[in-house]
Formats: sequence, C-alpha cells, structure tokens
Amino acid sequence: MLVALGLLAAVAAIATRRYWRPQPRVAPEAPRTESQRERDEHLKLALWASGEHFWDYDLVHRRMHRMRADENATHSAQITLLTRQGDVPAIHEQDMPLVMQRLRSHLQGDTPLFMSEHRMDLAGTGHWTWVRARGRVVERDADGRPLRIAGTARDITASRNAEYEHRIASEVMRSMSEAVAVLDWDYNFVAINQAFTRITGYADVEVIGRQVTLLDSDQHEKSLFEHMRAQLDRDSRWSGEVWKVRKDGEEILCKIETNVVPDASGQRRLYVMVLNDITEQKRAEQELRYLANYDTLTSLPNRSLLSERLSRAIVRARRENGRVAVLFIDLDRFKDINDSLGHATGDRILRAAAARVQQTVGAQHTVARLSGDEFTVVLEDIASFEEAEDIAEQIINAFRLPLSFGDRLELAVSPSIGISLYPDHAQVPTDLLKHADTAMYQAKAAGRHTYQVYSEAMDEKTRHRAILASALRRALENNELSLVFQPRLSLTRQRITGAEALMRWRSKEFGDVSPSQFIPLAEESGQILEIGAWALREACLTLRGWHEQGLTDLTVAVNVSALQLQRGDLSDVVAQVLGETGLPAHCLELELTESVIMANPEKNADTLRACRALGVSIAIDDFGTGYSSLAYLKRLPLTTLKIDQEFVGDLTHDSDDEAITSTIINMGHSLSLNVIAEGVETAAQLQFLRDHGCDEVQGYWISHALVADECLRFIREYGVDHAIKVAS
Ligand code: C2E
Ligand code: MG
Ligand code: MG
Repeated sequence: MLVALGLLAAVAAIATRRYWRPQPRVAPEAPRTESQRERDEHLKLALWASGEHFWDYDLVHRRMHRMRADENATHSAQITLLTRQGDVPAIHEQDMPLVMQRLRSHLQGDTPLFMSEHRMDLAGTGHWTWVRARGRVVERDADGRPLRIAGTARDITASRNAEYEHRIASEVMRSMSEAVAVLDWDYNFVAINQAFTRITGYADVEVIGRQVTLLDSDQHEKSLFEHMRAQLDRDSRWSGEVWKVRKDGEEILCKIETNVVPDASGQRRLYVMVLNDITEQKRAEQELRYLANYDTLTSLPNRSLLSERLSRAIVRARRENGRVAVLFIDLDRFKDINDSLGHATGDRILRAAAARVQQTVGAQHTVARLSGDEFTVVLEDIASFEEAEDIAEQIINAFRLPLSFGDRLELAVSPSIGISLYPDHAQVPTDLLKHADTAMYQAKAAGRHTYQVYSEAMDEKTRHRAILASALRRALENNELSLVFQPRLSLTRQRITGAEALMRWRSKEFGDVSPSQFIPLAEESGQILEIGAWALREACLTLRGWHEQGLTDLTVAVNVSALQLQRGDLSDVVAQVLGETGLPAHCLELELTESVIMANPEKNADTLRACRALGVSIAIDDFGTGYSSLAYLKRLPLTTLKIDQEFVGDLTHDSDDEAITSTIINMGHSLSLNVIAEGVETAAQLQFLRDHGCDEVQGYWISHALVADECLRFIREYGVDHAIKVAS
C-alpha cells in the first residue's frame, strides 16, 4: 500500500518535475451568489443520484479532496455532502502498474481522459473496494503543465463480483463434462453447454427456444414427465434416470438432475438441468452383474445366484410349510468325453445338456451350473419325495435322446442325479447341496444313469467309498486282485470255445469287493490303466497255459475301460502283452461297452482299427443299453456283439425284449458279427437264443465265473454230449 502511494507520488513527480512551481495563491472567500447555491444543489443531486464520488487531486501538494453525497438520504432535501481531505487512498498493488500507466498517458497528453478500474482502500481500513475512476487535468500552469486532476469515481464492487461470478459460472459450464441445459419456465431451452452438444448431438442453435420434450423417448409413459414437473414445482428439484433420444435417433440412458433457480429478476423461474450419459456405465454394470451371477458358457445361473435363489426358496417354504427339492446332476463320464473330443466340443455338449435340463424341468424352476458337468435344479412347491423323483426320472428319460451339438453331430450322454429335500434332509442351502451331491455319488456308484434320494446312510457310504478307493490303490501290490473266467458256449459248434476274464478283488480289510464297485473307483482315479494292463497280461498268460495243455483253440475275452481306450495307446499295450506272453492275436478278444466307444467314435475307431490290425477280435459289450446307431456300428472294426443281460434276463416272458433280442441277432449277422448273449440263466432262454440263431451264450446256466484251474477242468469235462443234453 505504501509502495502504491509512493508510486503515485512518483508519477505525480514525473508529471510535474520539469514544471515545478511555487504553491498557487489561495483566492479569498467570495460571498455565495444565488446561482452558485443552485449549482451546489445540482452537484449534490448529481452525486446522490449517480452514486459517483467526486475527487480532485492537487499534483503539486499531493493532496486529494474527495466528496460524495450521503447515500442514507432518502430524498433530495436530506442530501448532505461528505468531504475528505488528505492523501490518495491506497491502491491495490496488483492494480498499481495499470493505474500508473493510464495516469502517465493522460498527464503526458496521450489520452484525453484518465480512466481506470482498480481496487482502493477508500476508508483506510484494509477493505478493498473496486472503483471505476474517470478524470482529466483541470488546471495547468502557463506552460501547460498539469497542476490538478479531477474526476469521478464509483464503487463497482457489486457489479464486478457479479460479472466475475458470471465469468466463472460460464467457464464452469463450458468445461463441465456433464451436459447442462438451462430451461425457461415453459421448459424451452435457453442455454446449453458444449457437453450437451457432445452428448445429445444438438448444437445450441438447434435447441434454443425449443421445448425440452425434443429429447423425450417413448420408452417412458407421459405420466413420468408429468410427475417430474409436479415434483419440480413442489420441491424445486428432481433427479432420476431417464431414457433420452439423441439427434441421430439413438436412445441413451441419462442420469438427470434438475434444479429450479429464480431468474435475474427473481420473479420467473429457470430450470437448470444437468444430464449425464450413463448408458455405457449401466451396460458395464449389467454385464458385471451378469458375470457375477451367470455362467457364461451355458447362460444358466451360477453357484452364487443358485445359493441366493435356494435361500429364498427355503424362506418361502418355511413360511408356507412347503418343500424344496435340490437335484444334483452330473453327466456320466463327461471327463472322458472332454478329454477325447476336446474342450470346444465338450463345451458344446454342456450347452446342449444345460438346455435339455431346463427344457425338461420348465422355466419356473431354477437350473444352475455349478462347475464342469455339474448342474443343479431347485424345485419349489414340491408336494412329496415322489414328485422330485418323478422329475429326476423325466430328466433321465430326456437324455435318452442323443444331444446334438452342431453339424449333425450327436452324442448320447447320461446323467446321474442325487436328490435332497428341505425340510426332510437339511435346513440350509449348503447342507442341501452337500446331501444332493452325496446322493449323486451314490447314483454313480449304483451304476450311473440313475437317481438316488439322499439318506443319512449315504454319508457313511461316501466315506466308505473314499476308504475303499485308497485301499484299491494298494490292491495290486498286495496281490489282492485276481481273475476268474466265465466259459462261453458256442451254440453252433456245441462246445466251449473260450472264456471271459473277470476281475476280482479280495481285500484284506473289506473282503470281496464287486467289480461294479471297484472298477468305477479305479476309472475315476485313473488306476484302471495299470490294473487293466495287468488283467490283460494275466488273462493272456492263463490262456497261454491252457494252450500249452493242448486246448489250443480256446480264446479269452478281456474287458477294457474307457480310459484305456481313450489314451490311444491300447494297440501298443496289447501288442506288447501278446509279444511277452506269446499268445496268438486271434485268441484274444477285447470287450468294450457301447458308451465307451461312442464317447468319441472317430478317434476310438482308429485305435480299434490298430488293434484289429494286430489280429485281435473286438466285441461290443452290453449292447442295447447305449443307444448307439447302426450307422456307427458299421464304421467300427467290430467282430462280436454281446447282447446285454438285461434283455436276455427277460426272454420268454417279455415280448418286447424277445423282439429286441432277435432284432439284435439279425442285425449283428447282417453286419457279419459273431453274436453272443450274456446272462443266460435258464434253459428256456438258451432255447430261445438257439431258435433265433444266436452264435454263443454265456451265463450261470452254463457256468459261473471260475478260477483258472477250475475253469480249465470245466472246459475239459464239458463234452459235446453234455452240451447237447443241456441245450435240449
Ligand atoms: P460284463 O463285462 O458285462 O461282465 C458280465 C457280468 O455279468 C459279470 O459280472 C458276470 O459275473 C455277470 N454274469 C455272468 N453270467 C451271469 C448270469 O447268468 N446272470 C447274472 N445276473 N450275471 C451274470 P462281474 O464279474 O461282477 O463284472 C461286472 C462288470 O465289471 C463287467 O461286466 C465289466 O464291465 C466289469 N469288469 C469285470 N472285470 C473287468 C476287468 O478286468 N476290466 C474292466 N475294465 N472291467 C471289468
Ligand atoms: Mg464283459
Ligand atoms: Mg456285459
């Protein structure tokens, strides 16, 4: 401030330096005339009405005379003039250079007027007031050097502030990323910002003066807009998410906030609408929500959404005293399919399976995919166990038709299903799911392709299975595995032509364990590769021994598991075993079930062809249960077809099974296959098979499976006479 004062003084000095003169003489006071009083009166009125201050600066003595009318006066008669003598009030240091420059220009005669807007501390209180000052040199000496400068000044703080705020406001509006539109009381556009143009596609000339309804989308009812306006009238504020239409016709979802502000006059209202395009954000949110709740492969709910729905179903059932069933579905041997057909095909099959389950249970029930090939169904409003079982049955039946997975490719996949019920088995979702899972494992253990309802005993069984699986791992090295042989009777040649090797496990801990129990365990753990190869070698060695005893035309059939086939090196294993044991290849037959071959017909056919090339025979086991098509059979290098014992068991009292059996025999013959019936338990069954031209039979009627020595004795003793006697 002091600096400012000093500067002003310096300028004054510059202006007067060369023209310094002694102080002018002060004229004696003359009596005031009427016209002078009138002029004073006019001056007072002018200052009062305009709000201007008068100032008069003596450049020589550096004194300032100021005068203003008392603003408190309410009419002309009350006006008094307030005067002040003294130094120039301090000028703000930021404004000082400009003031000096203007003053210098004027004093030097470059500008006719001195004009400046700057801040001054008028009252000497440290409070800055914006002042607009105008003035000119009013007295000069004889040489024209300025002696006095006078003029008016005005407090413009209020308008400066308003203008400043306005500048800031418009800058803010301009730089905002949100679209801003100002609307008048009739909802016509008054102003918009650049973001508005960017977001809606409308330039200001295209919208100003037009109704805001220009942006309305017909996705909303008219009532929404009425409601908006009513709320704005009531609360002076509205916010929400609304669809709007861009100039190019595209719909965008906007988050809108509208506030009511009074206009400058304070009488009319303006609406300031801030609009944000959240279409992308919403889409991303929805996508995230979808990802969090749905399985991307099948589009079914995932585990987390399933838990949520199951919880809600339980809450409802508790309130209404109802029942909820959880069905845990696992596709049988899906791992094999995936490994052999590749993951892309596996995925397609999973999608087809998901659709089949949902189709079967209907849209009203939740079907979820938990992981891999595991699906879960939540059935609400279940009246009884039977109803849940009924639906499980329907699912199993629905899978009897092969799944198609594009390009005329089809595959039969069977499900195993476990069922648990609320409130019978558990009260909370996690336990219900766990129990359904346990029941599903029991369904698998019961031979797959079936369902089981949970019971507490199952938990025990599941534990037992785990212990059994670990005991099986040591079975081979502990010499607990052995083979038994079931003779095969040729109906055409009337004698025993060979035997099927069947594995047995006599566990130290568990006693005799059935192959239907331990073979699936070995398949699951992969151990089947090792024990399957062992069985193959053992069977060949045994037969080799029989050959050495003179029965050289006997053959042996060995069962082969899916995993052994899928590895693709089956022919190598077989060749090695044949080489080691010295058994002629034509004496060995490999038995594979339909479902094993059909899991990947193309690749498996190659492997089988390689085996056939060695000279071994190939039988399709349990035929009739796997829904394989004749077209496929034709393409496979098969030699033998074994009719499943399920059909044979019902021969002579089920006409359907009789028809199926005779059809299979004819079909097999038309493909030049050797047809064997297994599970023959009665003379009548044998007769039927003989009458229909079946080539060979196997079953308890002829003999149970026997240990090697006993089997050899049986074969020796089984003379032609005996065969004729039995058969007739
Ligand atoms: P499979 O290959 O179909 O074997 C026939 C099954 O039927 C055998 O059961 C046999 O004992 C039984 N059987 C034979 N005659 C009759 C009869 O007249 N009536 C009845 N009700 N059953 C009869 P087993 O030995 O319990 O074997 C069950 C399954 O375990 C076999 O079915 C086969 O799939 C599998 N398996 C057995 N040994 C092996 C093996 O070494 N390797 C592989 N991968 N699987 C094997
Ligand atoms: Mg078999
Ligand atoms: Mg069989």
